Amino acid sequence: MNSAAKHSLNKEELRERVEKIDFLFTHDADYLEYLYGFVPGGLKCKFCESTNLSKEYGDRTALCLPCGKITHLTASTVFHGVRMVREWVITICLLEDGSSFSESMLAEVIGMARSSVSAMMKKLFLIVSTHMGEKSVVTNSAEFLPVVCKRSLETPAKKHPRAEQIVFDELACGEPGESIEGIVEKAIAGIFQNVTTNESATIPQGTTVGDNAPDLWANEKKVFLFLSGDPVGFDSLSHSLNFNAAELSATLTTLELAGLIEPVAGNRFVRRRFILSPTIARSDQANAQVDLVPFFDFIRNTYHGISRKYLQPYLGAFWCFIDRKRWTVGALFRACLKAPRITNTDLLSFVSPLMVHFCSK
Ligand SMILES: [Zn+2]
Repeated sequence: MNSAAKHSLNKEELRERVEKIDFLFTHDADYLEYLYGFVPGGLKCKFCESTNLSKEYGDRTALCLPCGKITHLTASTVFHGVRMVREWVITICLLEDGSSFSESMLAEVIGMARSSVSAMMKKLFLIVSTHMGEKSVVTNSAEFLPVVCKRSLETPAKKHPRAEQIVFDELACGEPGESIEGIVEKAIAGIFQNVTTNESATIPQGTTVGDNAPDLWANEKKVFLFLSGDPVGFDSLSHSLNFNAAELSATLTTLELAGLIEPVAGNRFVRRRFILSPTIARSDQANAQVDLVPFFDFIRNTYHGISRKYLQPYLGAFWCFIDRKRWTVGALFRACLKAPRITNTDLLSFVSPLMVHFCSK
């Protein structure tokens, strides 16, 4: 069974697995009772913690005999308000079995709306992600752009889904210890390092940044700070920053040479991505030990691509898929029952952070 789990299931294989799981359950109530079996310490009253409960088989609520209160048994878990218990139980069983399958295929096979399947799986993978802890490597989300090709609510209008990353590259510049000004100075210093012409003599020497250091490259910093991933025209820049054309032209040339900005059609300019982000250098080091190719293969084979917004949950999906010892039978059920509730609103407002957790084993 486990050897077959190494590849993404096709529809027939998925159907077969679902039928096998369904075969273990006779009534709808059985799925819920199976779920209850994984509640850590058994079903308890939410008010007094008593396990002395009165309930019928398959009930979602129970009467606590000592305190007389009605307790909702899945309250404050991811299962709260879930009506399609069978579908959730089957999905968790499939994931605990090390299966991988596309969301659309599962939707068809288990008879659930595609959007509901998608939300359910993201919630499950988000829960898996929260368990990564010290096992994970923290790496820059930009490393994962090769598999980002799906749009999300965060994708800027008329832009490729990867454009979501630009926002984070800008944030990266604001990180403590590596100020945006410092990045500009370093990058500009870099272009003059090997210049031996007389011209270089006029370039301020020493690029140390300190309180007493002269404000090197003030114009370049102003322009760079003003620019973003959205193109800005030359005239608009000149007007907004109150630079004359010659001044602006020289400034833009320096920034361009330093690889900090790039011209786009219509005499407009954007910030260059990646080069400016100090965290890229850090994650390059991490990459020496971390092989992302298996993750890329997993995503391409199973999901055909992801959005940047939900990168972190899919890193969780990958971990669940490969670490069969950690995510064995019952492990995901228990994690779900312990994790705080994730509402659809929570999911919609979730955005993978700049630095994401990645577990390769
Ligand atoms: Zn009670």
